[in-house]
Amino acid sequence: METYFVDVILPLPIETRFTYRVPQALNGHVAFGMRVIVPFGGSKLYAAVVECVHERPPKQVTVKYILDVIDDRPVVSEAQFRLWQWMADYYLCTIGEVMAAALPSALRLASETKVKIHPEFDGDISALTPYELSVVELLLHRETMNVEAVSKTLQIAKVMPIIKSLVDKRAVITDEEIRNPYKAKKETVIRLLPPYDNESAFMDLLDRLNAKPGTSSQADTLLAFMMHTRANNAYHFSSPVAKSVLLKDDNVSQSSLQTLIKKRILHSEERVISRLVDYSAGLMPTVRLSEPQERAYLEIKRSFEQYPVTLLHGVTGSGKTEIYIKLIDEVLRQGKQVLYLLPEIALTSQIVNRLRKYFGDRVGVYHSRFNEYERVEIWDRVLNGGDAEDTSKYQLVLGARSALLLPYKKLGLVIVDEEHDGSYKQMDPAPRYHARDAAVMLAQIHGAKTLLGTATPSLESYFNVQIRKFGLVELMQRYADSKLPDIYTVNMNAATKRHEVQGLFSHFLIEQMSRALENHEQVILFQNRRGYAVRMICHTCESMPKCQYCDVTLTYHKKTNLLKCHYCGYAIEVPKECPTCHSTDIEMKGFGTEQVEDTLSGIFPDARIARMDTDTTRSKNAYQQIITDFEQHKTDILVGTQMVTKGLDFDRVSVVGILNADALISFPDFRAFERAFQLLSQVSGRAGRKEIPGKVVIQTFQPSHPALKFVESNDFMAMYTSQIEERKNFRLPPITRMVKVTLKHPEETVVLAAAQQLQGMLRTVFEGHVMGPAAPLVSRIQNFYLQDFWIKMNRDHSLVARKQQLRELVRQFRQLPQFKKVRCVVNVDV
Ligand code: ADP
Ligand code: ZN
Ligand code: ZN
Repeated sequence: METYFVDVILPLPIETRFTYRVPQALNGHVAFGMRVIVPFGGSKLYAAVVECVHERPPKQVTVKYILDVIDDRPVVSEAQFRLWQWMADYYLCTIGEVMAAALPSALRLASETKVKIHPEFDGDISALTPYELSVVELLLHRETMNVEAVSKTLQIAKVMPIIKSLVDKRAVITDEEIRNPYKAKKETVIRLLPPYDNESAFMDLLDRLNAKPGTSSQADTLLAFMMHTRANNAYHFSSPVAKSVLLKDDNVSQSSLQTLIKKRILHSEERVISRLVDYSAGLMPTVRLSEPQERAYLEIKRSFEQYPVTLLHGVTGSGKTEIYIKLIDEVLRQGKQVLYLLPEIALTSQIVNRLRKYFGDRVGVYHSRFNEYERVEIWDRVLNGGDAEDTSKYQLVLGARSALLLPYKKLGLVIVDEEHDGSYKQMDPAPRYHARDAAVMLAQIHGAKTLLGTATPSLESYFNVQIRKFGLVELMQRYADSKLPDIYTVNMNAATKRHEVQGLFSHFLIEQMSRALENHEQVILFQNRRGYAVRMICHTCESMPKCQYCDVTLTYHKKTNLLKCHYCGYAIEVPKECPTCHSTDIEMKGFGTEQVEDTLSGIFPDARIARMDTDTTRSKNAYQQIITDFEQHKTDILVGTQMVTKGLDFDRVSVVGILNADALISFPDFRAFERAFQLLSQVSGRAGRKEIPGKVVIQTFQPSHPALKFVESNDFMAMYTSQIEERKNFRLPPITRMVKVTLKHPEETVVLAAAQQLQGMLRTVFEGHVMGPAAPLVSRIQNFYLQDFWIKMNRDHSLVARKQQLRELVRQFRQLPQFKKVRCVVNVDV
C-alpha cells in the first residue's frame, strides 16, 4: 500500500507549510480542501486545511500522523485558495492568517471547546473590544474553561463570535478538543408528486376523491396541504410543507396522510432546513432602465470587452443599483455567481431588499453580524452555488468585505459599490487587506469582470483609469431628472459674531429645518462624533480626564453618565471634581451625536428624532429598525455619524445639515482632503431624491477651504487634479505604494530603542524611501506606546521584490532577542 503525505495550512501566523503522514486507514479519504486534525507544537490539536496530497516523504526524520479527517468533501475551493495565497503575498502576512479570517469559527471550534489564554499572549489588549476584554479577564484567572461556561459566567449569550475574534487576535487558544460542531438541522417535509403537481391534475384528483365514498378525508387532507403550500409560497403551484405543520391542522388526518403517501400522491422526505430566513416572495420582472442608464449599461458592457475592471462614476441618485441589477441578471442567467460588496452593514438592509425583489432567495447576505451557524450555512450555500436549478444555493452574495473570502466556484461578476469607501480596508487583525483591490484579484482568478461604482471615485481608481488600467463609464444625470441639491456654506465665525447661532445650530440651518418639517419632509444631520460632549474640561487647571490606557481624552456619554474611551472601551463615571486638581469648576465642551439629539428636541419639541451611530446600532437588527422607521416616515430627523452618509436612499429628505465640517478637513492624514470631499459629497447626495428638491447646509469655520469649494461646485475633476498633483509632488499613493510598519510596546524607552534599531535596518534597504520613526497622533493605545514607519515603494516591476525584502527584514527584526516582546505590525496600502 502506498504511503501518502499531506501538506497542510495551519490557522496560525507561521510562514512555512507543514507535512503530515496519512495513516493507511485514511488513505483515499483525504483530498485538497478538507480539514484534518493534526497535532502541532506539543500537545495542541488544530483543524488544518489540506493543500496537497502527495507521496514525497519530507526530509525530516519524524513526520507526525494526521489524527482524523473532519470533512468528506472540500470546504474550500481552488479559486479561494489562490486568492488566499495572493493576499498573503501581497499584504505580507501568512496564508494561515488569511485562512483563519476566512473560515467561520464554527468550522473551527465547538461550544464544548475548551479555551484558554494563548500561551504567547503578551498582554496587548489594544485590539480588544470591551466584551473581548471581559472574556480575557475571566480566562486570565483560570486554567481552561469551555466556551459554554464562559458564556454562562459572563452572561453573554453569543460568546462564540467573541471567542472567534479572540482566537483571530491570538489572545485565546482553543484546547485539544477540536471537533466538527456543525450539524445540519433536518425536518420531514411533504410534497406533491407528479403528475398531480399542477393545478388541473390536482383539481381532477380532488373531484375524484370527493366523489368516491370513503376517500373524502383524503380530499380534506389534500386541500389542507394545498392551503399550507399556498401560504408558504404564492408563486409556485405547490411547494413542500413541513409534516409537523400539517399534523397540527385539524383537517389533516394522520391515516389519510399515510394513505396518500402510499398511493404515491404525496411524498415524504427529510430535508435540511435553513436557519436563514426564507425569501420566496413574488419576484419582479427585470428592471426598466432610463435612457441615460441604458446608455451607461451598454458602455459598461463595451468597456468590459477591453478592460476587465471598469469604474462607473455616477452621481448620487443616478440609479447605479438599477444598472447593477441588470448586469447581475445577465450573469446569473449564464449560471455564474455574482459578488456584490458594500462598505457598511448599515447599507445592506436597504440594498438587500431591493435585490430580493428581483432575485428572491438566490441572494445571500454575509457580514460580521451573523452568528456562526448562519455563517457556516452561507459558506455551504456559496460553495455549492452557481447551480442555476437549485434555489437553495446562493448565486448572488451581498456582503461587507469579508464576503470576499467565501468559497465561490464560478464568479462572473464582482461589484464593488461605493468603491471609494475607507472601510474597505481592514486595519486589524491581519490580513490587512483592501477589499476593493482584493476583489479585483478575486475576479481575475475567476476570469470574471469587476465593476467599481461610486459618485466620488477614490484617487486610486481614477488614477487607474487615467493610466488605462481601468475602463471608465460616466453617468452624470440623476434618475427621473431630480436635481442635485443646492449647497449652502454657513460661516460659523460670522454667524457667531452676529449672534445667529443657537447651541450647535446656525439660524440658517434651523430655518431650513423648520421649513422642511412644516412641509412634512425629512432632515438628515451629520455629526462626526458620537457621544455627548467631546470632553470634560477643568477651568482651574485646564486638564481633561484621559484614558488610563490610551493617549486620548474621554468622551462624555450622557445617557449612561460615563466618560468613555473610544479606542479601548475604558469607562469611568463622571467625576464630581477634577481628578487632577479637585476643582469643581468643570464643564462639558464640544459636541457629539448624542448632544445634537438632545439640543434638537429643545428646538423642535414636536419632531421625532432618531440617532444612528455605533452606540445605537449594537444589536443585530438595530440598523434595520432605524432605517425602516425613517423610510416609513416614523421619524422626521435622523442624526448620525459616518453611517448616515453612505449610499442610503430615502424619498423625502429635503435638508441635509453638516454640523461641523472642520473636523473633517483638518484631519492630519494625506487622504484627509480626498476623504472630506467624498464624505461631504456623499452626505449631500442623500438630499433631494425623487420629486423633492434638496438643500445641503454645511457649517464651518473655514468657509473658503478648497475642499468645500469643490463640494459646492460638485467638481470631482478639480478635486482630483489638485490632489493628484500633490500626491505626485510628495510621492504619495496612488503614485507610489505605501507600507506602514508599527512597533508597539508597553514601555516607551523600549519602543524608542526598537525604532532606532529598525530604522537602521530599513535604511540599508530602502534608503531615503523610509519616513519615521514617529509617534502617531494617538501615541499610546491600550497601554502600548506606538512608533510608525512609512515606506514608499515605486509601482513597478520591483514592487514584489521590495516587499519580500521588507518581509525578510521584519523577520530578522522579530528574531532580535532584546526586542522579542516588541510587536511589529506591517500594513500594506494604508
Ligand atoms: P445611486 O446608487 O446611484 O445613488 P440609486 O440606485 O439609489 O442611486 O437610485 C436612486 C433612486 O432612483 C432609487 O430610489 C431608485 O429606486 C430610483 N431609480 C433609479 N433608477 C430607476 C429605474 N430605472 N426605475 C425605477 N426607479 C429607479
Ligand atoms: Zn483641574
Ligand atoms: Zn483607552
